[in-house]
Amino acid sequence: MEPLRDSFGRTHSYLRVSVTDRCNFRCVYCMPEEGLDWMQRADLLSYEEITRLVGIFAGMGITSIRLTGGEPLVRKDLERLVAELGRIPGIDDLAMTTNAHRLAGCAQELADAGLKRINVSLDSLDPERFSALTRGGRLDKVLAGLEAAIAAGLGPIKINCVILEGENDVELYDLVEFFGARPEHFELRFIEYMPFQARWHTSLASAELRARLSAVYTLTSAGEGVGQGPARDWMIQENGLRIGFISPLSNNFCSSCNRLRLMANGHLRTCLSDDGTPSLRDVLRNGASDAELEAAIREMVTGKRKGHEALIDGGTPFEGVMTQVGG
Ligand code: SAM
Ligand code: SF4
Repeated sequence: MEPLRDSFGRTHSYLRVSVTDRCNFRCVYCMPEEGLDWMQRADLLSYEEITRLVGIFAGMGITSIRLTGGEPLVRKDLERLVAELGRIPGIDDLAMTTNAHRLAGCAQELADAGLKRINVSLDSLDPERFSALTRGGRLDKVLAGLEAAIAAGLGPIKINCVILEGENDVELYDLVEFFGARPEHFELRFIEYMPFQARWHTSLASAELRARLSAVYTLTSAGEGVGQGPARDWMIQENGLRIGFISPLSNNFCSSCNRLRLMANGHLRTCLSDDGTPSLRDVLRNGASDAELEAAIREMVTGKRKGHEALIDGGTPFEGVMTQVGG
């Protein structure tokens, strides 16, 4: 099998699959309050189309799939897609990133269908601040979703947290205490805010967060985490909680990037920051054979950018809309 290599010598084993650009939240750092011009239903890849494409990617060395959105749980019958993807030879890691608002009702079904792990985005433990940051989300529903996921065997759960200065940074220690009370079930990962479409929030850089945590806790290096992520992992000695820092701006990991992103409308984002990506859906719907699709994918990956140029305090913002790309 010829690995999926770009012109900078990076090989790719990880594919994020966005199943919808829609979402039941409007997180302040992700979407405008009024929502977006949603993709048309007919433009979305069907589950059969996604399954066929993932099968072709698997034949080129993709082993790890993460479902995302928008919010993946707003697309109907997601467990049907999970079951299909789980049957593809070579896919040994099938995960999902979700806001967990609807998770309580379907965690078991998803686990039964073959989902292995989840990441849940949660930026506040204060019900009012949570509702303000997500523009309407209910914290109690998300917490119920976490419990259902643990009961269904989807743990340990990685909690994705974007800390914004002056918004939720006051909760840094509360988050560590809350999840650190059950370190066997949770890991906490802090993601630097990425400036899509020049909507600026003040992100706290990973080094600043680590300094604030080190002032209170003893942090020791925890080595490699589960999965194939860019997080740099640490352990909080006082409670055994594993934490990670994902630093796309202050310490970008472009030179070792192993990931690709299939958008819900079939565009292949070879780099998170690149808006001008070609459509696999059009190739597929024009009747291409698997071999032709494979050739089209290889050509797209060859054209992958070297990296993005956003910085904590400036640089070039990312192109496009996060909720279409899926993080
Ligand atoms: N709706 C799901 C969720 O929130 O987990 C999946 C999609 S969401 C776009 C994936 C991840 O991207 C979430 O963890 C979210 O916090 C993160 N995210 C969204 N906008 C971001 C931004 N501008 N900078 C950094 N992370 C962002
Ligand atoms: Fe929705 Fe996730 Fe974006 Fe929040 S971060 S608006 S939950 S897609």
